[in-house]
Amino acid sequence: MTRLCIPVFGREARRMADKALASGADLVEIRADLIPNADAPMLENEFSEVLSKAIITLRSKEEGGESSLSGKARKDWLERAMTLRPSFVDLELETDRRLIDGLSGGKKGIIVSKHFLSHRSGKEVGETLRECCRLGEMGKVAVKVENAAQSVELLLHIRELGLDNFAFMTMGEGGEISRALASSMGSQLAYCALSEDRKVAPGQLDLKTQKRIRAKDSIIVGLIGHPLGHTLSPGMQNAAFEALQIPGAYLKFDIPDAARVAEFIKGSVKLGMRGFNVTIPHKEIAFSAVEHIDNDARRAGAVNTICAEPDGTLKGYNTDIFGFSEAVRTSGYNPRNKRALIVGAGGASRAAIIGLWKMGAKIVIANRTPERAEQLVRSMRVFIKTMPLAALDKEEPFSLIVNATPVGMRGFEAEQIIPESLIARADAVMDMVYNPPDTPLVTTARKHGVKTIPGLDMLLYQGAKAFEIWSGRKPPVDVMRGKLLEAVES
Ligand code: NAP
Repeated sequence: MTRLCIPVFGREARRMADKALASGADLVEIRADLIPNADAPMLENEFSEVLSKAIITLRSKEEGGESSLSGKARKDWLERAMTLRPSFVDLELETDRRLIDGLSGGKKGIIVSKHFLSHRSGKEVGETLRECCRLGEMGKVAVKVENAAQSVELLLHIRELGLDNFAFMTMGEGGEISRALASSMGSQLAYCALSEDRKVAPGQLDLKTQKRIRAKDSIIVGLIGHPLGHTLSPGMQNAAFEALQIPGAYLKFDIPDAARVAEFIKGSVKLGMRGFNVTIPHKEIAFSAVEHIDNDARRAGAVNTICAEPDGTLKGYNTDIFGFSEAVRTSGYNPRNKRALIVGAGGASRAAIIGLWKMGAKIVIANRTPERAEQLVRSMRVFIKTMPLAALDKEEPFSLIVNATPVGMRGFEAEQIIPESLIARADAVMDMVYNPPDTPLVTTARKHGVKTIPGLDMLLYQGAKAFEIWSGRKPPVDVMRGKLLEAVES
């Protein structure tokens, strides 16, 4: 079983160690290079009760640490540390090679490690890890990566080696996946942070999450897009896993290069990932990365949720359509045979078109660039009236108005692109923009006593549906809603 290890450092190191072990960590890593005046007597005095559950590490500057001890001074320091009989002492493959080769007491209790501070090829990393494993009771390699796709490439390579006494992780934002898949990879150690707000390295997971996903059959899912910026999905999905006590976690994968997305999806599923949400700009790519596509996703021409079936085949869904429809349904508004206006002709508009079409509405699409709306309707093979946004003021009233453009979003100018006379005469409006919740459209609708359907509900129900697809469990919708409201209100 993968052991969870929390690095402790600074003047508070001992207190951190006590807290980590009391919180369920299996090991603490005493980062002696980050503790003032740490030598063997000091470590013995300070950490005597926790040494049996500790790794002592004196990370050198060459490997990203702070220790400038070298030569005989470093060797002496490490030899004294070994006499304290901690669980492990971490020796660096290159810096400590002479000490490693001359180990008189055998390799028990020795981790041989290497930290690559920049991305390396799978071949180089694999050969290094194999050498570390040969020389120590455990071999450990950590590699800096630029994105999650590089992590997956390296993890696949490491898996091929068939080692069993290793710890492997990638560092940087793109390294989160290596921590999440540590157990399914068979890594002996997973380094994590004591809590969400005490993460010291990008890519680290917190202890609570890492504990939750320690089971080999954990449900690891994540959001692929670029740029991801601030997204509410991880908070909502992780709250759902936690509430149902399901071993699962939802991560973020910022992958700039569209050409790597399909390879990333397929590779990470081989490593144990259960599924993904896919967002801008990769929804169309996702469509081509899956083997089976459900009817809604096929109609929309876009996949926003992927799930790996038990036999490894990938199935694509579009849960935005369910999210949209459920938001409308739960509001109590019924669009059957009513005139509905959708403003915008992008991906969000596609979900609204299919949702409203299934609910029997008579749809009109208005877009700033009318040609794009025509193109959308042609590509979806639906017969729907399209018109320029600028011509809306000549239109008869609509019962429902949906904003499927980013206008109103935080960071956008707070303009009103839909004539107020139309809003005033509508029965209901829905703004897909949910942050802030009070957009110009929502505020104007309220002023005229028009019902508003929250865009946040669409996000909620699309997420709930995705959760159900990945986990096979009924989603805890209230918990998920609570988390979303907390995020937009903060
Ligand atoms: P998209 O593919 O980029 O489409 C954007 C659409 O908005 C285009 O039709 C564009 O018109 C129009 N537009 C952009 N700026 C405009 C402006 N200043 N004035 C008039 N029209 C403008 O985006 P999308 O994926 O469809 O997403 C649209 C919005 O829906 C985003 O804010 C997104 O966050 C939100 N959304 C919410 C949910 C939810 O769960 N609530 C789900 C999906 C999307 P042109 O064709 O003329 O450029």
